[in-house]
Amino acid sequence: MALLQVEQVSKTFGMGGKQPVHALSEVSLEVEEGETFGLVGESGSGKSTLVKCIVRLGFPDSGTILYDGIDVPKARGADLRRLRREVQMVFQDPHASLNPRMTVEELVGEGILVHRLEPSAAARRERVVELLSLVGLSAGDMQRHPHAFSGGQRQRIAIARALAVRPRLLVCDEPVSALDVSVQAQVINLLMDMQAKLGLTMLFIAHNLAVVGHLCQRTAVIRTGQIVEHGPTAEVFGKPQHPYTRELLDAVPIPDPKATGWLRSGPNSGDER
Ligand code: ADP
Ligand code: MG
Repeated sequence: MALLQVEQVSKTFGMGGKQPVHALSEVSLEVEEGETFGLVGESGSGKSTLVKCIVRLGFPDSGTILYDGIDVPKARGADLRRLRREVQMVFQDPHASLNPRMTVEELVGEGILVHRLEPSAAARRERVVELLSLVGLSAGDMQRHPHAFSGGQRQRIAIARALAVRPRLLVCDEPVSALDVSVQAQVINLLMDMQAKLGLTMLFIAHNLAVVGHLCQRTAVIRTGQIVEHGPTAEVFGKPQHPYTRELLDAVPIPDPKATGWLRSGPNSGDER
């Protein structure tokens, strides 16, 4: 059984009001334990709406979402606590997602405290230090506040915060699209490292196909709330079946053909290597 099963999920905004928006129309996908699954689509295609339903920051109108057999929208009690710990999220904008009043130690340690994962304050602090070093920050950063850091460093804090509770599924909603291009690759590499080191399952959302191609074993393409194509990333990118996928691929600048040899065949690909 897949770790995450999304079946026929639909959600409409603005019912009863003006023009309703069908943000999700019968979306289905499955994420297997241990894999990195990519979801790509342009802005407004419904990616964040789906993510919110998966991490229970929102509810679908219809359809099923199962995490390790737990019915996500209906979960209560011990199941809900397990969800809240095992499914963590990294948001697009680390500015907005980190409480500016909290120190790094409080931000990273919060989940450990809430879920009672360490027996003492000293053990918690030790774990925070370990997490900071894991993401490339240092113990000296613990008493600083988010504003003292760059966007890339802030996203590292957000990643440490998510990893603190030892999640099984990490959902990353465009985790680098708010960052300077110069630090995007570092944060992607960090996520890849963490995935490998910790055996995480990852659902990676992006509008940038190059990033997904680099990172994900399987990919689904979403357009106006509908999955138009899905499969192994190499197939989806190498032989796109849907014209929309082709359009997205054509819109991708290819910075380094050698590094992106997976992208597609034809001129500009890595075929001539
Ligand atoms: P993406 O993350 O792919 O950019 P979203 O899931 O944020 O897309 O949005 C999908 C559609 O749903 C868009 O048309 C957006 O305007 C609409 N939408 C998202 N959230 C809300 C909301 N809370 N109220 C009304 N419309 C919304
Ligand atoms: Mg979004």
